[in-house]
Amino acid sequence: MSRLLEEFLAQIQMPSVSGQEGEFAGYLHRTFTDLGLETELDSDGNMLAVLKGNSQREPLCFAAHSDTVPTAPVRYRLEGDWIRTQGDSILSADDKAATSILVELVHALQEDRIPHGDLEILITCQEEVGLFGAKRFDPNRLRSQKILVLDHNGPAGGVIKSAPYANRLQFEFHGKAAHAGGEPERGISAIQAMSFAIARMPLGRIDEETTANIGIVSGGNATNIVPDFALAQGEARSRSQEKLERQTEAMLQAAKGASESLGANVKVDVKADYAGYALPPNDPLLVWLRAAALEIGLTFFTLDAGGASDANVFNLKGRKSVVLNCGYNNPHTFQEEASLPEMLRLLDYLKILIQRS
Ligand SMILES: [Zn+2]
Repeated sequence: MSRLLEEFLAQIQMPSVSGQEGEFAGYLHRTFTDLGLETELDSDGNMLAVLKGNSQREPLCFAAHSDTVPTAPVRYRLEGDWIRTQGDSILSADDKAATSILVELVHALQEDRIPHGDLEILITCQEEVGLFGAKRFDPNRLRSQKILVLDHNGPAGGVIKSAPYANRLQFEFHGKAAHAGGEPERGISAIQAMSFAIARMPLGRIDEETTANIGIVSGGNATNIVPDFALAQGEARSRSQEKLERQTEAMLQAAKGASESLGANVKVDVKADYAGYALPPNDPLLVWLRAAALEIGLTFFTLDAGGASDANVFNLKGRKSVVLNCGYNNPHTFQEEASLPEMLRLLDYLKILIQRS
């Protein structure tokens, strides 16, 4: 069994649900420390491991995250080149394909005496629940100007060159309580106002780069009370900031119009969830990534993401960042699977990037 596969299988069996990933982060901390890296696990739960350069090259940062979505204990099975689940858990290749490749990368750099500049390995915490680790991380701790985030499904060679902006929306509908049987005409149903509002909202796929969703609703206390309160929570995303604003406004107008028509009130709270980014095709970072892929015969392609990653945060904080595919499929599902050959291709890609930095 290859060392990379062994490392991957060991990592996926360690629990690491968001917020409870301390043990796994501790494992990575010990592993990188034992490999001779200057490693610090900070009080926010982020880990930075630095492999000092052995040649004059630009410093480079590879990032991954330590947490996983909630799951039963991971049970895997091997099928040829594939690592799959037993069907009752995720595999957690998101993001342990990346963290195990980074461990193997350090082994390989040291054993093969590959020339490299300073290599900064950043493992963020609580990515899945809101990019919290990255949001708390101060990129001025890094020497690298660019950050390659290893955190996407699909074959090695794929690069996420853009990702959406997103808003979180919360609608509080206020009506008037009354006895539903005795005097319903004295009441104003907040649940009805909310329902009218949601029915009027443009939701789902709005266009090629814009989506919207109401994902949580609640309200009411009893079937015989006209409800005076209802809550709806949702989101809107777009790779265009302007379209995001337009979509958000359309949802607000729907809520206001529906409430007014029933005499209810609505209080709206809009929070910017994360900022998007978009690199032009001729961006030097993409040109460099393409050239390195060509050099090892790896098919290079770019993608536009529908969701956010730590790269959104790093770009906002002034470090140029894209996400790389890591050789697994169907993350966050029981059908999640990882391809060992694809993981090895990503490893080779990282090695050549290091030498060409
Ligand atoms: Zn991930």
